[in-house]
Amino acid sequence: MLNIVIFGAPGSGKGTQSARIVESYGLNHISTGDVLRAEIKNGTELGKTAKGYIDQGQLIPDELMIDILASVFDSFKDSKGVIFDGFPRTIAQAEALKKMLTERGQEVSVMLDLEVPEEELMTRLIKRGKESGRADDNEETIKKRLLVYHSQTAPLIDWYKKENKYCHINGLGTMEAIFAEIVDAIEAL
Ligand code: AMP
Repeated sequence: MLNIVIFGAPGSGKGTQSARIVESYGLNHISTGDVLRAEIKNGTELGKTAKGYIDQGQLIPDELMIDILASVFDSFKDSKGVIFDGFPRTIAQAEALKKMLTERGQEVSVMLDLEVPEEELMTRLIKRGKESGRADDNEETIKKRLLVYHSQTAPLIDWYKKENKYCHINGLGTMEAIFAEIVDAIEAL
């Protein structure tokens, strides 16, 4: 199985590139952000809990996220592989993902780190907020999310480097150019 962690700050293009990877490689896609937004839309208990954190630009507690991730993962049958989009976001989540995959005879194949300069992230997210109406894409919440990214999520770069899974991708450029770099990285596995 090809298990890809697509990584990067909010607005780095994880969702866009995931869709292209899914199309080309026939992988299953887990976007934890999408899962949470669907729960909110459906008015579930989980959605109610998640909304409080998302609106504040904070992360949902690890234990909750880890359970959600495992249940979505186990719902895939005869999978060619999975793209993890927006998970892991903390070291605890990365460790839990490793454990979960090991228990299932699997491992992460590669972690693709989409790197985009901070000013560009801000511009993209504000634009997305206007177009999609995503409640957390407003300037104040974006700033909080970027702080959370730097303090809690960016340390995963070194974590995956130590695991020998890290692959840097230049996230600035056309969608095609970025995707071509991703394809090169996957083909080199
Ligand atoms: P995203 O769509 O990936 O940008 O996620 C939107 C929001 O959902 C984040 O700002 C968090 O509040 C929450 N979220 C998504 N994935 C996770 C995760 N793996 N751990 C904790 N919170 C998450």
